[in-house]
Order: sequence, then structure tokens, then C-alpha cells
Amino acid sequence: MAGGNAIRGTRVGAGPMGEAERGEAAPRNRISFWCANRHETRVAFASDADVPELWDCPRCGLPAGQDQQNPPPAPRTEPYKTHLAYVRERRSDADGDALLEEALTRLHQRRGA
Ligand SMILES: [Zn+2]
Repeated sequence: MAGGNAIRGTRVGAGPMGEAERGEAAPRNRISFWCANRHETRVAFASDADVPELWDCPRCGLPAGQDQQNPPPAPRTEPYKTHLAYVRERRSDADGDALLEEALTRLHQRRGA
């Protein structure tokens, strides 16, 4: 049958271990992250890699999360702070600690990458 040879032809380049069966050279997970500006960033991770909870959006620099409906809020590091913003910050110390912890976590994740 001529068809058999044609099918085999598509396998040229396949490794001796049968990599072609899996379709890709290495298994990867494609994870989508969304920032507060609704930018989608797709990042490919090796299947055995730890996927970070947050990813910096390459387009606007905001943190992006995996939940499209609930992206992480922009961090409070705007260069121009109003007086009201300062007052709010002092009122929510617990919230500030959470943000700090989040920032530290991201720092560790970047170092580990
Ligand atoms: Zn963005």
C-alpha cells in the first residue's frame, strides 16, 4: 500500500525513543495569566516546574493572576499618592502586611526561577 509509506514520511526526524508519539519534545504546561488591565499572558512551564501564583504582565508591568475573572489588584506603588491614599494605608495595617508578604513571595519566586 502506498499510503503506508506516506504516513511514515511524516515521522522523519522522530527520535529513536519515539518522541513523535507525544507530539512535543518536552511536556509543557501552558498557563494563562491576566492582569488588572485584562492583558492575557501565556507562559509555558515545564511540566515539573512550580507554577507561580502571580506573573508580571510584560505589557503594563502589573501583577497578573491565573483567575481571569478576578485579576490581582494593582500594587500600591504609584508614584503620586494622594493624602487620602496615605490615610487609607494607615487604616489598614493588616492589608498592608498582606501586600508586603505577597511582594516578598514574588521576590522569592523570581530568585528561584
Ligand atoms: Zn497588563
